[in-house]
Formats: sequence, structure tokens, C-alpha cells
Amino acid sequence: MRLSATDIQASLAALRDRFLVRAREEVLYLSQQAEKMRRVGLTEAELSEAYSLLHRLAGSAGTFGLADLGEAARSLEKSLKPYLEDDEQGGCAGSVREALEPMFVSGVMALSELLRDQQTPAAPLDQPSADAGIVSQGMQVRVLVCQEQARVSRDLVDGLALYGFQCIQVSVASSSLERWIKESSRVASVCVVDDEQLEQVAAECRRLGVTGRQLPLLCLSRDDSFEKRYWAAATGAEGFFAEPLDFPRLADSVERLVSERKQPASGRVLMVEDDPDLAEHYRLVLESAGVVVRLVQSFRNLIGELADFRPDIVLMDVQLEGMSGITLARLIRFEPRWLSLPIVYLSSEDDPENQLAAMSEGADEFLVKPVSDGYLVRSVLLRCRRARQLSELMNRDSLTGLFKHALIKQQAQMELANCRRLGHSSSVAMIDLDHFKQVNDTWGHGCGDKVIKALSNLLKNRLRETDVIGRYGGEEFLVVLPGCDAGQARRVIEDIGRSFAELSFFGTNDESFSVTLSAGVASLNDFTHGDEALEAADQALYQQKRAGRNGVTVFSPQQGAGQEEP
Ligand code: GH3
Ligand code: MG
Ligand code: MG
Repeated sequence: MRLSATDIQASLAALRDRFLVRAREEVLYLSQQAEKMRRVGLTEAELSEAYSLLHRLAGSAGTFGLADLGEAARSLEKSLKPYLEDDEQGGCAGSVREALEPMFVSGVMALSELLRDQQTPAAPLDQPSADAGIVSQGMQVRVLVCQEQARVSRDLVDGLALYGFQCIQVSVASSSLERWIKESSRVASVCVVDDEQLEQVAAECRRLGVTGRQLPLLCLSRDDSFEKRYWAAATGAEGFFAEPLDFPRLADSVERLVSERKQPASGRVLMVEDDPDLAEHYRLVLESAGVVVRLVQSFRNLIGELADFRPDIVLMDVQLEGMSGITLARLIRFEPRWLSLPIVYLSSEDDPENQLAAMSEGADEFLVKPVSDGYLVRSVLLRCRRARQLSELMNRDSLTGLFKHALIKQQAQMELANCRRLGHSSSVAMIDLDHFKQVNDTWGHGCGDKVIKALSNLLKNRLRETDVIGRYGGEEFLVVLPGCDAGQARRVIEDIGRSFAELSFFGTNDESFSVTLSAGVASLNDFTHGDEALEAADQALYQQKRAGRNGVTVFSPQQGAGQEEP
């Protein structure tokens, strides 16, 4: 049987997709090895395995239309080779590692970035890679460290890496500074820089046209004075950290700056406008800026449309056919649910007194017709962003920025529905800090808060983008892991638990302490309602507490909470 050209195209595309899925898994594995190399080093066998994996990737990527990836793999493969041979001759492992590590880490990062730009084939939900996600997000947040003192710099890199950030040390004097700044401004990055180098790095960023939003600078200093802080702010820093470094706070800043940058510049606008041509024009202008627009067809349906579309803002024409937009705005405010919804009037009214009178009826802003396209887009985007920030504030816990109790429970239920529909496996994990009351009692509530924040940052960095994390209660967290069966979820959480136990916190007198966590995991697929799965995860958690804490127990439907086979 002869295949048609379309069949061939489809098969080729499927092959390429399969290759992409595999390449992603392999690069993820390499990322994990890079992280391991940084922490404890790699054995000769591991290094040679990484080498053959790169060799294979270098040979195959080009065939599937990924020539860049192939070349990057080839170049990393080549630079690994001498080290392998070196080891065979019993070369000195310590110095080899020193030289090899930055090269391997940045090479692997380049591979991840090349892959990330590729069209993602639909994830193979039925066979997610076992440890996928452990390092994936860590690889995505990059911290450039510009600190000339080797010892401080090393501590900084080690401290930040525990939170899952990918750290790269760059010397300000080196010629590679320009390249790192340029590259980092394109991915989620933050630059941590010593006050002595701040001026130089800020000037270099300005010269390269890299803004503080693209690459925020965090200044480190031994001098905690107001004058120094003022100087840092004037020099362009987005944050200031005095020594001794407060790592949880630093990690938190990195996290926040990166997540602000990830916010897409878009929004949802419900438009109430009775002139069809004008409405169409506004819609096209806004949609070309990435805004999702819905036009209200029948004003009688306004409240229904609001509930259905859930806009960030409403654009309201004031003079409507037979109705007043001002009265409609008031009618919207009858519903408590829409009290905080921003309403922007569009009107030809240019008398400020009349505008003010109209706004007192419940709108937030007045755009005077004719409004220029650019102005319309800018003010709509700004409003949408503020509206989102507000709703984030309402739905997210203020200490950790995670979903609040009700919302995370809802997410578990939604994921259970997805499992039914799509047939994949997903899990929930309930995580609780061990002996946390003692932490508060010994080191104070403020210190306890830092521990809670640290765990939240670690979870955000180490879990996948698709995982949902919530603060379930005081020192209790709930995580929904789509596409992970209970065994996979357990491994992921165990790994995070190990890293968490390694974090050092500092109490009064600079005395350090660490905290462990216990968790219970349940498979969503075993239940008919999300709440039952949460109950099961909670039971498993308490079994783990009784069994001595510091670990993860999987709920087994046959015997209640029970230890799953290893
Ligand atoms: P276990 O290992 O059995 O979980 O012991 P525990 O001490 O962690 O558990 P317990 O439930 O007895 O105590 C939890 C403590 O967590 C009590 C509460 O004051 C504290 N806590 C809850 N929310 C916060 C918070 O937001 N900040 C701080 N600092 N402490 C909190
Ligand atoms: Mg506890
Ligand atoms: Mg508790």
C-alpha cells in the first residue's frame, strides 16, 4: 500500500513529536545531572553516560529539524570528551570538576532553552516521565551571581541552588558578562550583584538596552545604612540585601521578580457598545494587543455575560440606544460579586465636571471619544493588570502567594474531573511541617514565618508549571500533581523533603536550625470526589507523623493509609 503525501507528512510529524518528547526527557535528565555535579560531583560512569547521551542527541536532532539542538549537543559532547579521557588516566578529579562544572551547567541550560522554544507536542499523559518536574522549573529560573569574593560567591550559589534556582557565577571583569546579560534578559532571570560591582553591571545593562524588568538587579552589601540603600535604588537595583544574607528573603525576591515578569500583558474585556462599527474597531485593536474581547449583544443579558465571561474589566459606552451606560454600571454594582470589577466609561463627554458626576455612579475611569488606538490599548492593559493583581490578592495567601484553602480544594476537584475525562493519573499530596510549634516557641513567630515561606518557594521552584500548590492551613500545604501517579508523586515530594531538610535557618544569635516535613499522598483516580482524596492524603500524612515524621506515606485504598511498596 502506498502512503499518500499527507500520510507521510503526518507520520513525519508524529516521529518528530516522539523525538521531542524523548529529547525533553533526556535533557531533563542532563539537568538533574548538572545539578548533581554542582552539589556532589558526578562519578566517572555518570559522566560517561551523559557523554553518550549527548552523542546520540547530537547525531539525531538534525534529522528531526532541530539542527541548533544537534549542534549545541555536539559542542557540549566535544568539550566533555577531554575530561573523560583525563579521568581514565587518573587525572586530578578536584580541579577537573572545578573547570568542567560551569561549562556543563551552561551547556545543558542552552539545550533546555533550545528545546523550550520548540512547539510542544501534546504531553503523553499516559506515561509521564518518572521524575519529570523535579528540576525542570529550577532550570528555568536563572540567577547570575556577580560577586568577586570566591568564598561568599560559593556560599551564595550553594544557598540559592537549594531553592532550585540555576546559578551562574560571572566575573564582572570577564568578557562573557555582556553575553550573559543579553542571554539572561531573554529568559526568567535575576542578577545578584555585590555593591562594588553594581554600578558597572547597571551601566552594562543600560548600554545593552536591558531593562530592570528584563533583568532585575539585586544588590548585596555589607553596609546596611539608609545612604547605601538610597544609592542602590538610584543606581538601578530592584532589591537590597545586607549581610548576613537572609536566604529565604532573597529567594522570595527572586521568585517574585521572575513571576511578575512572567505575567502576560493581556486581559479580558467585556465591551458594552451599541455602535457596531466602533465596537468592531475597538475589538480588533484590543485583540491585536493580545486582549480577549467579548461584545455584549443584548444588554438585558449583561449580568449573565459577566458571570459567563468573567472579564478583568468592563468597557462601557455611556450613550447607548435607549439606555444609559451610567445606569447599567450602577445595576452591575447591585451584585456584591461585581463590586470590585473595574468599569471604564467610553464617552464623548469632555467636561471634567460631568465626567466626575458620571464616575460617582460606579465607574473607575473615563476615556473620551475619539480615543486613540494606542491610548485605548495602554489604558486597558494597565487596568487589566491592576484588576488581576487585586484578584490575586483576594485568592492568594499573603505570606506565601499560594492559593488559599478554598481555591486549592477546588483545583483538586477540577483535576479529578480531568482524570475522568482524559484517562490519566493524578495525585494530591498533603504536606505538614514537623514540630513546627517548637520552631515558633524557640525562635519566634517571625522566624516560623520564614520557614513557611521557604517551603513555599521550594515547592514553587521544584514542582512543574502544571502542578498546583496551595496553603491549606497554617503550616500545611496541599499540592495537586496532574499526570503523576501516587508512586511518582511520592518520589517528587520525598526529593523536595530531602532538600528542605538541608536548608539552614538562622534564629537569634545566628544559631542555625533545620526543619523536616511529613507528607501524605493519595491518587485522585481512586476517589469519586476531590474531598475524599484530600481526606485520604490527610490520613496518610498522620500515619507518617505516627511513624516518626520526616517522610512520605502513600494512602492505599485496600488497607487505608499504608506504606506502598518501595
Ligand atoms: P506535628 O509534627 O505533629 O505537625 O507538630 P506541629 O508542632 O507542627 O503541629 P501543631 O499542629 O501542634 O502546631 C502547628 C503550629 O503551627 C501551631 C501554630 O502556631 C503554627 N502556625 C500556624 N500558622 C502559622 C503561621 O502562619 N506562622 C507561624 N509562624 N506559625 C504558624
Ligand atoms: Mg506540623
Ligand atoms: Mg499542622
